Amino acid sequence: MATLILRGKAFDGRRFYEDAIVKVDSGSGTILGFGERGSVEEPRGSKRVTVKEGETILPGLIDAHVHFYSSKGVGVNEWASVPDTLAVLRGAGDLRKLLRAGFTAVRELGTKGGIHLAQAVAEGAIEGPEVVSCARALAQTGGDDDPPGLPLEVAQQLASYTYFCDGPWECRKAVRKVARDGGKVVKFYASGAFSRGAGVKPNFTVKETRAIVDESRRLGLKVAAHAYGEEAIERAVGCGVDSVEHGLGLTPRLASEMKRKGIRYVPTLVTYVNPGYKNRNNEMVKRHLSEDMLVAKERGTEVVMGSDIVGDGARPHGRNYEEIAEEAKFLGNREALVAATSRAADCLGLERAGALREGYRADVVIVRGDPEADIQALAPERVVHVMKYGKFV
Ligand SMILES: [Zn+2]
Repeated sequence: MATLILRGKAFDGRRFYEDAIVKVDSGSGTILGFGERGSVEEPRGSKRVTVKEGETILPGLIDAHVHFYSSKGVGVNEWASVPDTLAVLRGAGDLRKLLRAGFTAVRELGTKGGIHLAQAVAEGAIEGPEVVSCARALAQTGGDDDPPGLPLEVAQQLASYTYFCDGPWECRKAVRKVARDGGKVVKFYASGAFSRGAGVKPNFTVKETRAIVDESRRLGLKVAAHAYGEEAIERAVGCGVDSVEHGLGLTPRLASEMKRKGIRYVPTLVTYVNPGYKNRNNEMVKRHLSEDMLVAKERGTEVVMGSDIVGDGARPHGRNYEEIAEEAKFLGNREALVAATSRAADCLGLERAGALREGYRADVVIVRGDPEADIQALAPERVVHVMKYGKFV
């Protein structure tokens, strides 16, 4: 058991400090103290970790929206047809990459074997960020997670990252299955995406949505709603979800309502700027990349960093920080970092995480450069050290 002292420029999850001290107990994996230099006692004999001039200390980064589809190809048929074992093994490789890029927690919202990836990390069997898993997403039959052109039983068997459910009681049962699987959040498709061609349609009726949210509340689980379009966002917000994922088509009225109810906005911008993304010219997408974030900012809706990187041929894991850079274009660097640390930890339901604060878990990243001035300092090639629970990776 050793006390480590890190000293240098730091971001504590809320604001920057020019010359701060982070005192870590590597035995318990917690932060013993944080503050301006001089305000934190440095016990004799404690080990000093040299933070070089020009480097910055941050809480571990958090991505609140990922998948580990682990396919070479792209699209629901490709994602569904990867054998489960291969998907999990590739997912383990991606988790290692994420940790080394400075991510110490992620929330996966629908992944083959996602719950087992979470368990394997927790047990120390594989290296990676803590995984908050939804076990399986909830989708209506014939929705975007239902691979088309196959007999229904075959589709459900292949799409083993989703429970198809229809009607309030099937929806409740699906939530109960998520809880039974060990899921920590309920993810459901309040709308489709673009994968069925032209339009985006709301999914699940009001009664079904209410059943999902109510059952999740009964079981103490948070609810994340994938929602494209005003109607789907409105239904999800009206039923009281905890976060709106993607949220294309956010209106000022809905943004204010989200702020009032404390519902978080996870815009997943980097997905739509990705060169492999087929619908980049869609009007809804164009608006999302120009206006939706301004609406959220203007109305004070709380943004949480989530990339929707899925780990396929078009959206590989590793450069998830690019989502922080996209959000920073609207929010500024400091606020984008709040969205990727302290606020993300709260969104994930992680206790005492996401900030450099006494009693918090010692998940710490040191980067070369100053992300207050240059968000590219978060790029993986500029990550110098990653500490998870007080241990250097
Ligand atoms: Zn997603």
